[in-house]
Amino acid sequence: MPRRSRAKIYLLIVLLLFLVVVGSVSYLGWRQSVPRVSATATPVRLLGQRTDLTFRVEAARGNVARAEVRVVQGGRTVVAGKQEGPFGPRAQIVVTIESGALGLREGGAVIELWSRDDFWRPLRFDDRAVLTLPVTIDLTPPRLELLGATQYVSPGGAGLVAFRAEGAAHAEARAGTLAFPSFPLGPPERGARVALIALPWDLQPGTPLGIAARDEAGNVATRGLPVEVRPRRFPHETIEVRDAFLQAKVPELLPQHPPSRPLIEGFLVINREQRRQAEEAKRRIGSTTAEAPLWEGAFLQPRNTKVFANFAETRTYFYQGREIDTQVHFGYDLASTRQSAVPAANKGAVVFAGPLTIYGNTVIVDHGLGLQTLYAHLSHIDVKVGDQVDRGQELGRTGTTGLAIGDHLHYEVLVHGVSVTPLEWWDAKWIRDHIGKPLRAAGLPEIR
Ligand SMILES: [Zn+2]
Repeated sequence: MPRRSRAKIYLLIVLLLFLVVVGSVSYLGWRQSVPRVSATATPVRLLGQRTDLTFRVEAARGNVARAEVRVVQGGRTVVAGKQEGPFGPRAQIVVTIESGALGLREGGAVIELWSRDDFWRPLRFDDRAVLTLPVTIDLTPPRLELLGATQYVSPGGAGLVAFRAEGAAHAEARAGTLAFPSFPLGPPERGARVALIALPWDLQPGTPLGIAARDEAGNVATRGLPVEVRPRRFPHETIEVRDAFLQAKVPELLPQHPPSRPLIEGFLVINREQRRQAEEAKRRIGSTTAEAPLWEGAFLQPRNTKVFANFAETRTYFYQGREIDTQVHFGYDLASTRQSAVPAANKGAVVFAGPLTIYGNTVIVDHGLGLQTLYAHLSHIDVKVGDQVDRGQELGRTGTTGLAIGDHLHYEVLVHGVSVTPLEWWDAKWIRDHIGKPLRAAGLPEIR
C-alpha cells in the first residue's frame, strides 16, 4: 500500500474516533444536564395532631421513582412517609403526618420532600430534598366548655346549646351525622357561641348528640351533650290518589311526562324525585341564615285555621285499591277560606320566594341562627328575596299550587334545613323552657 493511502486511513480512523468521543461526551453531558424532579405542595402553615399533606412531583424525563417526606425539628429528622414508584412522569403523593406518633413537639419545624426520578445519568447523586416547607406544629386542641343546653329534646324537635370553643376556627353541634353551625352570641369577651339543633323525626335511639370544635391546625375536640331524648309518636295516614287529581297535577308539575304513559307513573316521579329535590333545596337554603336571632317570642299560628295534616305524618298512597307509595309529610296543613292571607310567623328575612317542586309557590323566611319557616302551595306571593318581614306581615295568599289537594297552607319550621314540629315554636312556654333556659344558664341575653 502506498504511504499516502495509509496516512489517509489513519486520518479517517482518528477522525471517526474523535467523532465517537465527542458524540458520547455530549450525549452523556445531555443526560447529566436533564433537570431532576420538581415538586409543589398544597399550602400548609400549621401541623396538628394529624395533618394530610399533598405533594405533586414531576419528572422532566423518565418517571418519578420514589418520594419520602421527612420532618426536621431541632436537629432531629423523622420520616413521616415513604412511597416507592415508579409512579409515571407525574405523581401525587399524599402523606398523613401523625405528629404525636412521630414524637414531634409544638413549635417550628421544616417539612422536606425527598424525591428522585429513574432517568439514568452518568453521575448519580443521592436523593435530595426537592421541596422544603417551614411549618408550626400545634398539638393543643380547642378547649370546649359547655355553658347550657336544652334538657329534654324529642325526635322531630329542636334544642339549643351554648358553649365556648377557645382556640377554635370552626365549632358546631352534632346529632349523629347532622352538623349544626354555631354563631357567636352575647358580649365578645365572653366568647360564647350558640347552635340550634334539630333532631330528625326518625332519629335512631342512641344517636350521639354533641358539640365539636376544630382549630386551624385541624386539631379536634368533641363533647357529648347531657341531653335526655324523650320519644315522640307520629301519626300514619292513607291517601287515595284520584284520577281527577292526577289529570290536574301531573301536567302542572311534570310537563315533560309523555301523554302515552299512565299518569300514575308521572305522579310517582313527582312524589319521589321532586320531593327529594325539595328536601335538598331546603338544606341548601338553610345555610343562608342571619348570624344573630331575628325572631322575637312565640311564632304566629294563622288565625281561624283548621289543622288537617300533622308534622311527620307517614302517608301511604293508594291508587285503584293498590298501595303505590309511602312518604313522610314534614309540615302542618292549615286550611281556612280560599286565598286567605298568609302571615309571617315571626320577624325575619325572605330567603326564598318562588316555585319549589311539590311545594308549589313557596316562601321561606329566615329567623336567624338557622331557624326558618316555610309557606307552601301559595296562589300568590307578595314578597321577594331580601325583604325584611315583621311578625304577622302578609307574605302571600293560600292556594293549591304544587302537590296540594284543595286550598290550604303547608307550613314548616326548619332548623338548618331539617324539618321540626311547628308545635314547639307556636308555644311561648316551650320557647322559654327549651331555648330561653339554656341561654339564661349560659348568662347570655335571652331571645325575647
Ligand atoms: Zn302539607
